[in-house]
Amino acid sequence: MKDIVGGDCELMAMIKADAYGHGAVETAKALLNEDCNRFGVGEIREAVLLRDAGIKAEIFIMLGFEPELTPLIFDYNLTPVVFDIQTIKDIANEAELRGVEIGCHVKVDTGMNRLGFSVDQVKDVVELLGELNGVQFKGLLSHFPEADVTGSASSLEAIDKFSKLSNELRTNYNITCHLANSGGVLNFPEALFDMGRAGISLYGYHPAGNSAKQPHGDRTLIPAMSCKTKVIQLKRVEAGAGISYGHTYRPNQEETLAVLPIGYEDGFSRSLSNKGEVLIRGKRAPVRGRICMNLCMVDISHIEDVKVGDEVVLLGSQGEECITADEIAEKAGTISYEILCMFGHSNNKIYID
Ligand SMILES: *Cc1c(COP(=O)(O)O)cnc(C)c1O
Repeated sequence: MKDIVGGDCELMAMIKADAYGHGAVETAKALLNEDCNRFGVGEIREAVLLRDAGIKAEIFIMLGFEPELTPLIFDYNLTPVVFDIQTIKDIANEAELRGVEIGCHVKVDTGMNRLGFSVDQVKDVVELLGELNGVQFKGLLSHFPEADVTGSASSLEAIDKFSKLSNELRTNYNITCHLANSGGVLNFPEALFDMGRAGISLYGYHPAGNSAKQPHGDRTLIPAMSCKTKVIQLKRVEAGAGISYGHTYRPNQEETLAVLPIGYEDGFSRSLSNKGEVLIRGKRAPVRGRICMNLCMVDISHIEDVKVGDEVVLLGSQGEECITADEIAEKAGTISYEILCMFGHSNNKIYID
């Protein structure tokens, strides 16, 4: 991603949501080793965890904060993204009280219809920032609704609005302008401005999912996360036997099932009941019946020599086979982002260099 944005453009690493399930502290450390020193999180709480772990890089708070938490922005030296007037005033008050200056980035809505000032409001906001002591206008940002789609009209429109606004403001202010998420960086070179904000691509997935071809020649996104468990019991079931809650699966002939100690509590979504697959001994084993809270059954009739204790891969590769978060997401009716969050948030993590 650094190569793609090139030397003139910085990258902020989005490590919100515990780094999309990968563990924010470990991810930040790994990215610091790659000279990435700007991080984005949603809430102050996430930034405090990073600071407590010794991360000194700039940390952006993307989602705002409740007024009473304003002092923490200063205590922890965080960079607020602002999208309402009251927050700006609160920050300015606190800055004056402390006799310090703080830089903030102004979020503008260019068509996502989510967080941000409207384009028309920005001039007034910038004026206000100029009038208030203690706060400085340091950056302008916006967010794409559809940058994962090559050539999408909404993206071109966002780029157009953002370019106009940033060009106007740049004549008077020394600001960092940033618009592109992973999709923006990969699909819209003209959206780079001063900085990209990469999330999913850093974890090895293309924002468009399986349908996306590798976008940039021989550069390949390599998934970072895998998820594994072990077989805890084997069992032979007769034709017609009802499997798991609701007996939603009945085999036509005798089957051998492996019982796995993983279920929706562990991020293996119940929506994968009778749909999901796992890897055992390098082969695909389909889920039989409903996925329970922390157990599920898979059919291993076609796999030889399976034993209790055998490694089971839910996400990642084993032998020649590989299950990606995109594949799981397609079956579960969601996107890789959610699959990574679900597996990551609910399981013990082991980091391998
Ligand atoms: C999450 C997020 C990103 C990163 O998006 P990806 O699609 O994961 O690259 C960028 N900007 C903002 C504001 C975000 O919330």
